[in-house]
Amino acid sequence: MSLPVISQSAPSAPYEDPLDLMDEIDALKKQKDASILAHYYVDGEIQDIADFTGDSLKLARDATKVKTSTIVFAGVHFMGESTKIMCPEKRVLIPDLHAGCSLADSCPPEQLAAFQEQLRAQGRNFHTVAYINTSAAVKSLVDWIVTSGNAREIIDRVPEDKEILFVPDQHLGRYLMEVTGRKMILWPGSCMVHEVFSIQDLIRIRKANPGSVVMAHPECPQNILEISDVVGGTEKMRKHVMGIAQPTTFLVATEATMIHPLQRVAPQHTYIPIPGIMSSSGETCACNKCPHMARNTLQKVRDCLRDGSPEIEWKDYFKTAREVLDRSLLQ
Ligand code: SF4
Repeated sequence: MSLPVISQSAPSAPYEDPLDLMDEIDALKKQKDASILAHYYVDGEIQDIADFTGDSLKLARDATKVKTSTIVFAGVHFMGESTKIMCPEKRVLIPDLHAGCSLADSCPPEQLAAFQEQLRAQGRNFHTVAYINTSAAVKSLVDWIVTSGNAREIIDRVPEDKEILFVPDQHLGRYLMEVTGRKMILWPGSCMVHEVFSIQDLIRIRKANPGSVVMAHPECPQNILEISDVVGGTEKMRKHVMGIAQPTTFLVATEATMIHPLQRVAPQHTYIPIPGIMSSSGETCACNKCPHMARNTLQKVRDCLRDGSPEIEWKDYFKTAREVLDRSLLQ
């Protein structure tokens, strides 16, 4: 007789009423002197209870305005690190320590340091520009940090006689080469969510919705950007839809949860998330949802507030990363 197979997967958390959880979180925030910062890609219910919502740039700036002694950052690990770097005196908690980022992981600091060394040995005169989706260790190795919102402006600050090594997102780098006219050495990284948008799906959905406007994040591959009407980060998308009074259908090529803040600020429009590539069975998978962001749940926000962990601890190299973040994001 064969023995039954015992699943190794972690048991899912028992159901808890979201409204009760929100009340509990509210009470814990007061009790623990805490504020919640939530990225546009986390679940809408977490965004609804947050003190600040935004993209990476806005939240990095918002973090410096927080008055409470504790910050809960609902997002992914590198964002928690950036918050600690900007606010070293505060306790920074994140709901799930394993909420990583495929893009940040595609550029390990040791590999970047080795590649920079190789370029220097060849006599290349360059600045390294990193997208904010990188670990703090990588941030400490670069000259500039950009977000999709300020990349153009920062790249204009790199002296003309310098080459640019752009890490880690090859698609954003290629897009920036186009809009700034600067040649760049591109690190071959990409985001698992934006990488999979299907051009065929986008064309099909656009045909089915005449007059619709395609908005795409610059982390999307070039073939998606080429047929998009608006290319920009999440904050630019938000401002764009707010500026249009006439009800419009927007086809949105970025993480699907972004629809929530768009609906909040401009409910007159219709938003259709672009699905990811089709599986061999012809079904569209939910790969336009970031699995790392999805690790943030109301339960985990409550638990980390209640337990005071997981906490982002200060590391020595945060100091160097801070100098780079300061001159890139705050000046
Ligand atoms: S959507 Fe992509 S870039 Fe953003 S956190 Fe998820 S894996 Fe990283």
